[in-house]
Amino acid sequence: MQNPTLIHAKALRSQLDACAKDLGLTIVGVTSAEPFTEEAKVASARLGDGLMGNLPWYTEERIQRGAHPATILPGARSIISIAASYYSEQTGTHGSGRVARYAWGRDYHNVLKKRLKQLVAKLSLQLEQPIAHKVYVDDGPMMDRSVAHRAGLGFFGKNTMILTEVGSWTFLGQIITDLELVPDGPSQKSCGSCTKCMPACPTGAIVAPYVIDSNRCISYLTIEHRGPIPRELRPLIADWIFGCDLCQDVCPVNTVRGETVGDDAFAPNPDWSSLDPIAVLALDEESFRARFQGNPIRRATWEGLRRNACVVLGNLGDAGAIPSLVIALQDASALVRGHAAWALGQIGGTEAERAFLAAQGTETDPWVLEEIELAITPTTKQENPDAKH
Ligand code: SF4
Ligand code: SF4
Repeated sequence: MQNPTLIHAKALRSQLDACAKDLGLTIVGVTSAEPFTEEAKVASARLGDGLMGNLPWYTEERIQRGAHPATILPGARSIISIAASYYSEQTGTHGSGRVARYAWGRDYHNVLKKRLKQLVAKLSLQLEQPIAHKVYVDDGPMMDRSVAHRAGLGFFGKNTMILTEVGSWTFLGQIITDLELVPDGPSQKSCGSCTKCMPACPTGAIVAPYVIDSNRCISYLTIEHRGPIPRELRPLIADWIFGCDLCQDVCPVNTVRGETVGDDAFAPNPDWSSLDPIAVLALDEESFRARFQGNPIRRATWEGLRRNACVVLGNLGDAGAIPSLVIALQDASALVRGHAAWALGQIGGTEAERAFLAAQGTETDPWVLEEIELAITPTTKQENPDAKH
């Protein structure tokens, strides 16, 4: 005779899968709420080695909290892990600033959190009992990739992404719950001998298999990083105005399985899927908020996105951008002014040189003055011996 507890657990799992499917969530796994001890050690080492960039909220305390689900939800027994594909064949046509694929559609936080809460409500209704739970979609301390791996959703790629049955173009979410669910085993697959993503990274940010130095990663630099972008990395950013997909684009797992059409909720919006850097530079703060309402690009901040626009314009080298960059050289933000100076220096020409000389007479920020000085061509210095050196 079968163990009644096991029968109950299996039935519960079937109910979970059915409810998730009804909500369009087809990639679902379960793991226990046991601590993520080894994963926390790795995360702490990365933090200690300075590989996480400069994120004030990413602390040792946060790592430990995320590694111990029972501290987040007392009585936690299981974690339901989901992945939702955002892949789409469509591309944007509006501008020359590239946007990472995940930001082409609606903000995944809101969309998926709502669905995960609906999933709990459905299950609770079916079981006729309240379910203690906490829902996270990239917005809390949970180690979402480690949870996904242990719940069998996929394996870690050498680019640190989770490679699921539809590739890595997925958003991850978790429900910590007091339900006793049958856990799935971790995925046994791996990248094997493939290393394609490592040389594909233009900044050398994948410093070893499974290790990314955020300080060099275009995704980090253009989204999370709040200060100047290191000068030596600016040319390597090319036309990426928000994020970077290069290490996922080359991944053969994505090539084979990524064609799976993603969730309709994340269908690309041409206003977001590529950006005109000149138009971005001209946005005032209110227009920035309105333009990116409900889209992850807001994460970069108004100032940060205009900084990125300058870098892209400098890399594109189109003289048509000079008038916009000259205006940006007088921007209220020193961050924007400094990057506008760099971009003008990349493009060059007499109009840029005149703007530098004018700015040198009025600029008071030492870092911006340094950027201008570095951007000034030898020609300008010869023509204007009175310019500050
Ligand atoms: Fe490199 Fe871009 Fe991947 Fe970052 S997102 S590791 S910069 S390829
Ligand atoms: Fe793994 Fe190759 Fe994909 Fe990199 S490109 S994540 S090594 S399968």
